[in-house]
Amino acid sequence: MRNRWKDDEAAAIGSDDIAMRVYTSNLLGEEEDLVLHGGGNTSVKGSLTTVFGESEEVLFVKGSGWDLRTIKEAGFPPVRLNYLLKLGRLNSLSDSEMIRQLRLALLDPQAPTPSVEAILHALVPYKFVDHSHADAVVTISNTPNGAEHLKQIYGDEVLILPYIMPGFILAQQVAEATKSLDWSRLKGIVLLHHGLFTFSDDAKSSYDTMVELVTKAEEFIASNTDESSIVLSEYQWSPSDCLKLSKLRRAAGELVRGPVLLRLDNSREAVGFACRKNASNLATRGPLTPDHTIHAKAFAAIFQEDLTEDLKGFQARYIDYFNEYKIDEHQCLDTMPRYGVWQNKGLLYLAVNQKRLEIVRDITLHTIRAIQQGEALGGWQPLPKADLFEVEYWELEQAKLKSGSIRAEFEGKVAVVTGAASGIGKACVTALLAEGAVVIALDIDEQFAMDSLNSSLFAYRCDVTDTKAIQSALLQGVQRFGGIDILVSNAGNFPASQSIEKMEDENWNRSIELNMSSHMRVMRGCLPYLKEGFDPAVVIVASKNVPAPGPGAAAYSAAKAGLTQMARVAALELGADGVRINILHPNAVYDTAIWTEEVLAERAEHYGFSVEEYKTANILQSEVYSQDVAKAVVLFAGKSLAKTTGAQLPIDGGNERVI
Ligand code: ZN
Repeated sequence: MRNRWKDDEAAAIGSDDIAMRVYTSNLLGEEEDLVLHGGGNTSVKGSLTTVFGESEEVLFVKGSGWDLRTIKEAGFPPVRLNYLLKLGRLNSLSDSEMIRQLRLALLDPQAPTPSVEAILHALVPYKFVDHSHADAVVTISNTPNGAEHLKQIYGDEVLILPYIMPGFILAQQVAEATKSLDWSRLKGIVLLHHGLFTFSDDAKSSYDTMVELVTKAEEFIASNTDESSIVLSEYQWSPSDCLKLSKLRRAAGELVRGPVLLRLDNSREAVGFACRKNASNLATRGPLTPDHTIHAKAFAAIFQEDLTEDLKGFQARYIDYFNEYKIDEHQCLDTMPRYGVWQNKGLLYLAVNQKRLEIVRDITLHTIRAIQQGEALGGWQPLPKADLFEVEYWELEQAKLKSGSIRAEFEGKVAVVTGAASGIGKACVTALLAEGAVVIALDIDEQFAMDSLNSSLFAYRCDVTDTKAIQSALLQGVQRFGGIDILVSNAGNFPASQSIEKMEDENWNRSIELNMSSHMRVMRGCLPYLKEGFDPAVVIVASKNVPAPGPGAAAYSAAKAGLTQMARVAALELGADGVRINILHPNAVYDTAIWTEEVLAERAEHYGFSVEEYKTANILQSEVYSQDVAKAVVLFAGKSLAKTTGAQLPIDGGNERVI
C-alpha cells in the first residue's frame, strides 16, 4: 500500500492538531482499500476553552454523515473526553441510548453526531487514533485460519480480538482486553472480520503504522495467491439482454414500490467472477465486513435465464433469512437484492438512486476480489449470517426505517433526452437531473460526451437520423441504468428559409429527416423499454409553427406538423400500455445556440424592433426561456399530468394566431 504522506503538504499545515487530523484522515480516505463509503473513522484528542474560561479535555472524532476522503474540520465534533470514559465504564448501554449520550456530551450542540466508535476512540491512550476496514486485513480474517495467519503476520505487536458487534459492546471488549496491557508495546489492534486500529501521539506515525500493517497483510495475500486467483473474462451483451434487464428492473421496483436503477457490469472482473463455476455459492456466503450489509445486504441474488423468476428466488431466500434471525420488534427491510451475479454475463447492481448504485458497485467490486483471494487462502469464510443480520437489523438502522423518508418524484427514473447539448435539450437535462432522474443525453455534438462528469448523466454522441446509432446508444444507456421511463424527443433544427417555389430537395429532405422521421426512430427504439418503465411518458418538442405556420418555413412547419401527427397516433397506440405521449409547441426561445447576438439583432431590425421588443413580442410581453420549456417537460413527464395524453401545449408567451 502506497504511503500518501507528503512532507511539503504536512509542513504547510503546521502544528494545528485538527488540521493535521483532517489531512491524514483524507489520506486514509483516498485509499479505497482502506475505507469505502463511510467505513472507518479517526479522532484526535485535545482541549477547548469553554465560555466560562475553563479548559475541557476533548475528543474530536469523525461525525456521522462525513466521509474520510472529504472530511473537513467541521466533520470532527468536539466531545467531552471524561464523559466518554465514564460512559465506557457503564455495565450496559443500548446503542440508541449511546447516541443520545454522545449528543449530550457534545461541546457544540450544532455539531454532527459523533461516530458510534467514539467511546472506543476515547479509551485509546494516544492523541491520534486511526481506524480502517482494510480489505487485506479483513480478507485474511475471513478465511478458515485467519486469526492464526494474522498472528503469524503481526506477532505480538498487534492485539487481535474476536469479532463483536460494533458500538458500545465493542468499546467494552477493547477496554477489558487492554486493562492490564502495556499499550506502549502495541502497534495496533485487529478486530477480526471488521478492521484495524492504529494510534500514536503523532499524526504521521499513526498513519504510517496503518499503511505498514496493511502492507504486511497485502504482502501475505500476494505471496499466498497467484494471478489465477482472480478470474477475468469477457462477455458481449446483446439487445435481448437489455430487454431482460428492463423487465427485471420493473419487477425489482415492485419490491421497493417505486422506480429503481439497475446496472449491468460487464467489466473483465465482473464477468470473470460471474464465470466461476461456484460463483453462486461464493456470492451468497456473506460480505467483506458486516457494515456492508447496510448498503448491499448480506448476500447476492443469483440470476440465470429467467431473471424475474430468479428475483423471486432471492426474495424467498431473504424472507427465510429474516424469519430465521428476527426478534419480535424487527421490521423486515425491503426484499430487493442490491447486487446479483448473472451467470457467465456479469454483475448486476440495484439501487433506488444513482448515489446508492455507486456505493453498491464499489462495495461489490471490493467484495468479489476479497472473496477470490479468500478462496485462494483456503476458503471464503465470512461471518455467520446471525452476526450479519445483527448489523443489517441494528436498532439504529431500524430507527432510520421508521423515520420514513419520502423519495423525490423522479428518483430512480431514467430519461432519454435528444438534442441534449444545447438550448431546450440542455435545459431539460438540467431540470430532470435536478428532479432526481438519471439522464441518457444524446447529441450529435462531438465535444458533448467528453464534457460529462456527472455520473447521473450518460452523455453519448448520437446521430438521431441513424437507426443503428440510436440502437447502440440506447443499449449503452440501458446497460448503465436498467431501462427508460421518460423520452424527451427534442433534437431538431431550423432550416434555411425557402419558399416552396424555390425549395431545394435537399433542404426539404433534411428537415423531414431530422424534424420528423428521427423522432419516430428514437421513439420506436425506446418503446420496448418504455413499456417496461415506471409511469412512462414521452414529451415531443414540436413548434408553434404547427398551429401557426409562417411563409418560407414549409420544410420546418411540414416536418413539425407531421411529427405532431405521429405523436397523436402514438398516443392512441400506446395508451393501453400506459405510455403517455404529449406535445409542446415552443416559440421564440432565443437562449439557444442558433440565436447568436448578431442573428437576433438582424431579425429585430428586419421587423423594426429593438432586440428587447423582438424577444418579448408576444401577448404576455415576456421572454420565453429554454427553462420554461423544460418546466413543461417535467410537468408532462411527472405525476401531475398522469391522466393526460395526446395533448398539445403552447409555450410561446401567448400568440394571437394560436389563440
Ligand atoms: Zn469500524
